[in-house]
Amino acid sequence: MSRPDVVDNVAALRARIQDWRRDGLRVAMVPTMGALHEGHLSLIRIAREKAQRSVVSIFVNPTQFAPSEDLDKYPRQLARDLDMLATVKADLAFTPTVGAMYPAGFATKISVGGPTAGLESDFRPTFFEGVATVVAKLFLQATPDYAVFGEKDYQQLCVVRQLCCDLDLPVGIIGAPTIRDAHGLAMSSRNAYLGEAELAVARQLNAILRKAAAAMSTGAPQDDATGEASRALIAAGFQKIDYVEARESLTLAPWRRDRAGRLLAAAWLGKTRLIDNVDVPTA
Ligand code: AMP
Repeated sequence: MSRPDVVDNVAALRARIQDWRRDGLRVAMVPTMGALHEGHLSLIRIAREKAQRSVVSIFVNPTQFAPSEDLDKYPRQLARDLDMLATVKADLAFTPTVGAMYPAGFATKISVGGPTAGLESDFRPTFFEGVATVVAKLFLQATPDYAVFGEKDYQQLCVVRQLCCDLDLPVGIIGAPTIRDAHGLAMSSRNAYLGEAELAVARQLNAILRKAAAAMSTGAPQDDATGEASRALIAAGFQKIDYVEARESLTLAPWRRDRAGRLLAAAWLGKTRLIDNVDVPTA
């Protein structure tokens, strides 16, 4: 298994993609911040099913981190990431520097409305501006036919869809199911921050959300179910709950019982913030 070729600048990326296009090949992109795990690899497998060529970007995007967040501490392990990309036969890794993405004088921000309202935005007010700006840049740099995003970051997936729709970016967005460990914990690069005891607590998040979603779909009022879930999370050992909230699954508008729903949550374990979400089945 050989590592994918690596390009670290936009000109080299465009040259490679132009070659593929000249050969009539379709391209699927998987944007990541590296520290790859099985969740990321599942997206790359989907990308390879959709298109003949896959490009994986690895870029810890500073504009989506608030000053108080873990930008400096975020795990960076490129050699290991490239070995993992070899196992799924990714064709190309794009590893731009911060200077290449945001050269001196960079002065543009993309602000998406609609699904950005509330949830993550209440706690990370500049996060989606950073995400939308970097995703738009990546799409304009690589011009992929498809891009694969995880449902793990459900609000982000909805925001990226809105971005492409509103700006007529001709990229087919594919949402991919969340990959979990054997105990239901969604895989995340940030799980590396958790100690053994915290891991045991973290592994209860998904079950607690699924129980609340099941209660809602069988008639429990949303506030009762989410209140109960918040109490259960605290009892399990989470120190702070940012939100536990149901939304309409396509638009992220407030949930209505007759519409497909998604229950989303963010909670703190020590200095680590975990997010997860589950389907709210219609009764
Ligand atoms: P990140 O590197 O955390 O920015 O994530 C890059 C992409 O991988 C995003 O589209 C995430 O939603 C997706 N992703 C992260 N964790 C998982 C997971 N456990 N299952 C599926 N996709 C994931």
